Amino acid sequence: MLKDLFGKKRKFATVPTETLGRVPAPTPAIEPKEVPEGLMNKCTHCGTIHYSKDLEKNLRVCKGCGYHFPMSAPERIQSLLDDGALTEEFDTDLVTANPLGFPGYLEKLEQDMKATSLKEAIITGEGNLGGNRVVIGVMDSRFRMASMGSVVGEKITRAIEQAVERKLPFILFSASGGARMQEGVLSLMQMAKTSAALARLDRERLLFVSVLTNPTYGGVSASFASLGDYNIAEPGAMIGFAGRRVIEQTIRQELPKDFQTAEFLLEHGQLDMVVHRKDMRTTLSKLVEMHVVREGV
Ligand SMILES: [Zn+2]
Repeated sequence: MLKDLFGKKRKFATVPTETLGRVPAPTPAIEPKEVPEGLMNKCTHCGTIHYSKDLEKNLRVCKGCGYHFPMSAPERIQSLLDDGALTEEFDTDLVTANPLGFPGYLEKLEQDMKATSLKEAIITGEGNLGGNRVVIGVMDSRFRMASMGSVVGEKITRAIEQAVERKLPFILFSASGGARMQEGVLSLMQMAKTSAALARLDRERLLFVSVLTNPTYGGVSASFASLGDYNIAEPGAMIGFAGRRVIEQTIRQELPKDFQTAEFLLEHGQLDMVVHRKDMRTTLSKLVEMHVVREGV
């Protein structure tokens, strides 16, 4: 138990149930395999302690303060699409190489593959949303901070091309630290490539909804994530190009406290909507329904 508490850094604090004085009566309803004994999540914002299972049921939103915990790509797809799954996944065999020979890069990729069961930081595919077909991409910040390397850029571009070919709307969930430094200029090039593909989607008069989740920074926010016909963010999401400290040091001015939050950006015209996670499915379904291309219309 001590090893579990102090052995390695965890994303969230874990507290054994005994110390909380809230030991639940042993009921068969709690399946020990799904909720490891003593494992709970503590909200980093308000300190509320959640059973992992309750947090999952609440779409990983804190009941105390509404903080939106990060969501993995598979969780997001499950919570969003009809039947909780894609009908077709694209490009499952695309794997990142190490074009610049960056030391240790392939090992890091392998570690992340093992930890996430993903091959790269994004899942793309087709699915149904509120009864309408959509092409969707979801970034996963557990994989290299969902930084944008060649494969992430390529998968997004190919998904957009599929949307054009199938005449479907495109929805993209971003969560990214920016361009991937291990791929240098090749990752920066993805900004131009994805933006050019989106320009084609636009020429075909197809809908693109960009959903920015916490955090969306750097080259991702400066390219496709900001190019939506609708740019939507989750509450409290941090969105920007450079971080606060870099900007403050550059312009030698203190920035407002809520600088780079979704709410601040909404107020200043950078976003169209800030949508709570529990309303995301309904909101996106409505937008898609409004813009759906129907035969003969
Ligand atoms: Zn909280």
